[in-house]
Amino acid sequence: MLRLLCETSSSAFIYYNYQEDRVETLGSWDHFFDFSFSDMADLSKLYDRVEEQYDIPLREGLFIESRKGDRESFEIKMKESRLCIEVEVNVVYDSDGNPTDKIIRFKDVTKLAAQKDELTYMAYYDILTGLYNRNYFVRLLGEFLRRAEKETKRVAVMFIDFDDFRRVNDGMGIIAGDELVQLFGQYLTGLMSSHVVISHFSTDIYCIAIYDPCGAKSVDTIYRVIRERLKKPFKMTDGQEVTMTVSVGVSEYPEAASGTLELINCAEIVMFKAKSRGKDKIQYFEGAILEEFLRTVTIQNKLKEVVFEQNFTMYFQPQYYAGNRKLRGVEALIRWRDKKGDMISPAVFIPIAEKNGTIVPIGNWVIEKSVQTYAKWRDKYHYPLILSLNVSAVQCKKNDFTDCLLQILEKYDVSPGEIELEVTETILIEDFDDISGRLGELKNAGVRISLDDFGTGFSSLAYLKGLPIDTLKIDKTFVDTLLTDKNTKIITESIIYMVKRLGYETIAEGVETREQFQYLRELECDMIQGYYMGRPMPAQGIEDILEKLTEKVG
Ligand code: C2E
Ligand code: CA
Ligand code: CA
Repeated sequence: MLRLLCETSSSAFIYYNYQEDRVETLGSWDHFFDFSFSDMADLSKLYDRVEEQYDIPLREGLFIESRKGDRESFEIKMKESRLCIEVEVNVVYDSDGNPTDKIIRFKDVTKLAAQKDELTYMAYYDILTGLYNRNYFVRLLGEFLRRAEKETKRVAVMFIDFDDFRRVNDGMGIIAGDELVQLFGQYLTGLMSSHVVISHFSTDIYCIAIYDPCGAKSVDTIYRVIRERLKKPFKMTDGQEVTMTVSVGVSEYPEAASGTLELINCAEIVMFKAKSRGKDKIQYFEGAILEEFLRTVTIQNKLKEVVFEQNFTMYFQPQYYAGNRKLRGVEALIRWRDKKGDMISPAVFIPIAEKNGTIVPIGNWVIEKSVQTYAKWRDKYHYPLILSLNVSAVQCKKNDFTDCLLQILEKYDVSPGEIELEVTETILIEDFDDISGRLGELKNAGVRISLDDFGTGFSSLAYLKGLPIDTLKIDKTFVDTLLTDKNTKIITESIIYMVKRLGYETIAEGVETREQFQYLRELECDMIQGYYMGRPMPAQGIEDILEKLTEKVG
């Protein structure tokens, strides 16, 4: 029965009897070994066949009786057959403690070992690219940081993100996207060394950690090498060729941060700065970028909590005709007092609200609130005024914008001719045809259109001709240097001249002094807005002005 048990086992056995110095092999010996075993001296044949690093452990492991052990198991790997074998050694002792029998069992664990290898691989590497995965990268970066602290060295993190990756994913499919990620990833593996570890971080993001960045492994060099590669297109299996660019953010220990995740975060944040600077760029960490980011996040969070009627209020700034100094209209400007009572400037929060979409409800609130206030003044004072409203691109692009505006006007019985919408040049750069079409639609409905901040954008007078506008607002930056800078003077003069020839009205904003006012009047600028004539004020302030004006008339 014992023999049968042994013979049918998938393991192989060596049985050794000390007293008789007798050896016997049992089980599936032939599956494991290509030599016969009849004497303990034959162990040397076994030693010859294991991979070198297992030789000594095997020799030691087999002779547990020298250590008075009675059972031990370990693994070995064979050179030629590539078998992975678990070796178990058992020794039986007599009552005096002398060994009597020894059984060595060999078990094939090749399959198991392969699975274990694969698991280890998956724990460290990214299957798609062969680069380190995110978790392992963070661990390696941690090791770099600990070492850098001891050796007072620097560690750089490069956060690399494909520009417009969605274009590939949406346009060519996810498989093509994956292929691209793989091709670039494979290229990056070639840049790895003991001081440069690279990971595929997520979808189209790669992270590089550099220990002691300098010389051939400086951030600049690596960036240059990567850019060089990206100049050439990637060849896809379907024959297509794709050219990509990347935006890179860089942070360095110890300047930017001392923790792994903080360092990666910093690099990511400045990477976004590289994107906003126009992509295909590298951006090094700067404290100011982080501050700006944190401010944005804080404002975004505050915007979520804002209760319009409680936190927002409308101010109005008067606009006057330059010639006779008569009141022409008011520009509605939003004011935000947050829960703690701090004032937050629209110059700061409007761009953020534009990015996260909150501008749409805010913009609607601004329109309704301002038109309502305006209607009250008109009913009370019957003074002909124009109400100027600032509208953002995002707001204007909404399909129902025109309808919404006209509905509000109808609700308060205000005619479109009493309203002027201020749009900026940037609105047009993004999508000239769509926006100018939309503005044309509004103009047809009778609403006046004014081009705000003229001179800060691309300021081409040529494109003005095709635009459905009534008024042009000359930006404060021109007014500021009008009297001191000869070039500004010439430009402003020619703008006013040309704009009048095109049939538009001009309004100068940010006029702060009497000298500026007089000079602009000489240039025949039609209207003036600025602290010199009146600051933005609450609705009551405008009512006071209207009160005085109508008193005189009455
Ligand atoms: P903007 O449309 O160019 O508005 C003019 C800005 O210049 C206002 O700043 C105003 O207070 C300021 N200003 C006017 N006269 C003078 C002056 O003589 N000297 C100086 N130093 N400044 C003067 P404010 O109110 O802080 O608004 C900043 C920007 O925020 C606005 O620039 C506009 O782009 C945006 N904004 C304000 N309210 C709204 C709104 O209701 N909706 C939208 N979409 N944007 C708004
Ligand atoms: Ca404006
Ligand atoms: Ca402006």
